[in-house]
Amino acid sequence: MTNSNSETYDIIIIGGGATGLGIALESASRGYRTLVVEAYDYGKGTSSKSTKLVHGGIRYLANLDFALVKEGLEERYYFINNAPHLAKAQTYLIPFQNIKEKIKYWLGIKIYDSLAGKLKLGKSRFLSKEETLREAPDLASEKIIGGAVYLDGQFDDTRLLITLVKTFETLGGTALNYTKVTDFTYADNKQINGIIVKNQLNEETKTYFAKHIINATGTFSDSIMNLAEKTTQHKNVAAAQGTHLVFDKEIFNSDHAILIPETGDGRVLFILPWHDKALVGTTDVKVNEPTLDPQAQENEIDFILEVLSEYCNKPVSRHDIKSVFSGQRPLVKSAKDKNTAKISRKHEIFETGNGLVTMAGGKWTIYRRMGQDTIDYIEKTRKLHKTQSRTHHLRLFGYTTDKIPYPLGIYGTAREEIIKIQQELNNFQLLHNELPYFQAEVIYHVRYEHAKTVEDILARRTRALLINSKAALASATTVASLMANELGYDHLWQQQQLKSFTTECGKYSV
Ligand SMILES: Cc1cc2nc3c(=O)[nH]c(=O)nc-3n(C[C@H](O)[C@H](O)[C@H](O)COP(=O)(O)OP(=O)(O)OC[C@H]3O[C@@H](n4cnc5c(N)ncnc54)[C@H](O)[C@@H]3O)c2cc1C
Repeated sequence: MTNSNSETYDIIIIGGGATGLGIALESASRGYRTLVVEAYDYGKGTSSKSTKLVHGGIRYLANLDFALVKEGLEERYYFINNAPHLAKAQTYLIPFQNIKEKIKYWLGIKIYDSLAGKLKLGKSRFLSKEETLREAPDLASEKIIGGAVYLDGQFDDTRLLITLVKTFETLGGTALNYTKVTDFTYADNKQINGIIVKNQLNEETKTYFAKHIINATGTFSDSIMNLAEKTTQHKNVAAAQGTHLVFDKEIFNSDHAILIPETGDGRVLFILPWHDKALVGTTDVKVNEPTLDPQAQENEIDFILEVLSEYCNKPVSRHDIKSVFSGQRPLVKSAKDKNTAKISRKHEIFETGNGLVTMAGGKWTIYRRMGQDTIDYIEKTRKLHKTQSRTHHLRLFGYTTDKIPYPLGIYGTAREEIIKIQQELNNFQLLHNELPYFQAEVIYHVRYEHAKTVEDILARRTRALLINSKAALASATTVASLMANELGYDHLWQQQQLKSFTTECGKYSV
């Protein structure tokens, strides 16, 4: 079956987001020959635009879905333990404006901590009004009656995703970005036995065969199921958009993340210290047609500014925004779900009549669990030899518990390679004086992290576009030139890259 334009694997995964890479890691670590294909870049979809929380979801307690919260809290533990260079425990302060909030969250935190049990990240505490304002001095003081501090996790989503790719590769897996599935192949018994892909950079097509093919395309799950089974209209997944604004940290300078407990639409809003900035989000807006790289709506931006202004002791305006980014949640539908904020964050497996397995829903925090459940499902339903999951304690690429200083700490032990590149090129310069990234990192991303475009570097290998869109745009020429030198590309390539990055950048600016 295999020739120069085709290859055969045990398991193929479509989609290079948190779900796809979680499954890929599980599959390769259990010894399956595994391929993962991503149509654009890893994390180009939702997985680069999360709020960066590693959590059980304290707000889901309101739905009394204790099992869902407990699962998230368990996974939070493995998540942080397996990648301490990328994920950490973070204190979250909840300021209360009234007794109702105080009682609700007092109870919530007690339940949250008891569900975490031994896997608790630290001790929660309740604060007087004075203590609350001392610990978060930028809070508007008039309405606050007190607060509470509890612990959850925080991480950098695309750095973790690239680290999953690297770990997967060390286990023998093959990961291809810019490789889009355009159709399926079928065996004589009409069961799916392969994918036809197009390389989005050079237009080449190729076929990959596998006994088991898994769809992990998030908000695009239904369209891939429809492509596999052309006679059926699958409607399993809904999409809901969430937007974040990023500010200089001076706008809300606190070591604590802040959880605003009750917004006008009955949600919560986070203000998080992230890459030396303040990241604020998110909204929840129903989406009819999912898009890969959505743009924030004006009313989402206004809403976040309004809530932030209510809690901040100084005025906050559009001029303060450094970047804005939006993502779309893949939510598993049930017939009665109307309000997307209330649709459960549970994950679910679907299978078409011709054997395409889809894993959808869930959240970043439980990427490992979603991977484990998918491979368990394949082994069980296809009557394979049952293997044990090895990912609970699988240390991810670059693992170290050493406290390596920011900004290179995020690479863990791999930062040595960047230092070598700095010495090789005799280049110790930053990309831009308002960004914490070295020029040598670009070369590292090209050589070792599958970076193929200027956007890959500025949006996902570094987080420049998300923390300061103007500075990211100003760095694009340097990035294009460094990449062109490394890869032997011409001036035309650089021009095309700049044009396309400038368009993309528009979505991240207000
Ligand atoms: C605003 C927001 C905030 C969030 N915050 C958090 C949080 O703080 N903590 C948390 O735990 N979770 C959070 N989540 C949830 C989490 O981000 C998502 O559940 C998760 O990223 C979904 O990952 P995924 O891999 O399923 O989808 P995606 O990341 O979208 O990946 C799907 C991939 O499939 C690819 N694809 C599509 N079609 C094809 C094709 N034909 N061929 C090949 N590839 C294809 C796409 O290009 C895409 O990259 C948040 C979500 C949103 C929207």
